[in-house]
Amino acid sequence: MIEARNVVKTYQTGRVGLEVLRGVSLQIDPDAFIAIMGPSGAGKSTLLHLLAGLDTPTQGEVFWEKEAISRLSDAQRAAFRNQKLGVVFQFYHLLPELTALENVLLPGLIGGRSGKPLRRVAADCLERVGLKERLRHRPGELSGGERQRVAIARALVNDPALLLCDEPTGNLDSHTGEEIIELLMSLHSRQKQGLVVVTHHVTHHVKLAERAEKVIVLEDGRIVQERSSK
Ligand code: ADP
Repeated sequence: MIEARNVVKTYQTGRVGLEVLRGVSLQIDPDAFIAIMGPSGAGKSTLLHLLAGLDTPTQGEVFWEKEAISRLSDAQRAAFRNQKLGVVFQFYHLLPELTALENVLLPGLIGGRSGKPLRRVAADCLERVGLKERLRHRPGELSGGERQRVAIARALVNDPALLLCDEPTGNLDSHTGEEIIELLMSLHSRQKQGLVVVTHHVTHHVKLAERAEKVIVLEDGRIVQERSSK
């Protein structure tokens, strides 16, 4: 469904070019559950951002089915992301002045939906992540784990084909982090939407590695290991 083909990403800082991805190719099939692991600084977040169309590669292409999303305009990529992907970040990126329900509604509104049906879907997404009783709480009134659950509900509201999670437990204590990983895996097994989890968190590695269909290890901008369990 998503394919990165020989992707290179170089960041230009002053006169020096920093090659963060050095020719990465991978395929993510529909319904797949993939864990991308590796040490901090390996290029994992950069790769996820390219897959999500949040950034474009310096060389190479990212395809969604047959379409090269890396060649779309920013607005086209934003529309593609809104319709096809859910993205979850380490730091939640919730709007503090909005309630949990309003935060979850937003991608639906951007996608052109509105009214009671959208509110029902958003409330249902919050229920699926265990926050039925927190619809009117603002982010400041929620714990870190609850904020990440709101962010996950927001990522689900447009019923994405693929959920991309960038260090979703990076800002949480290990117990809460485990719960978030469990939640993501149970959503994946119930909904059968694709799931990609990026983590450098060794404590999650075992659990993710046991359940993921494919584990990709990235080091210094290259895939150094790719293991499929199916
Ligand atoms: P990981 O997610 O594996 O920790 P990242 O993809 O976040 O790695 O970063 C890889 C490298 O790229 C790091 O050395 C980081 O400092 C650098 N980097 C990331 N984003 C930028 C940027 N916008 N500009 C310059 N360098 C960056």
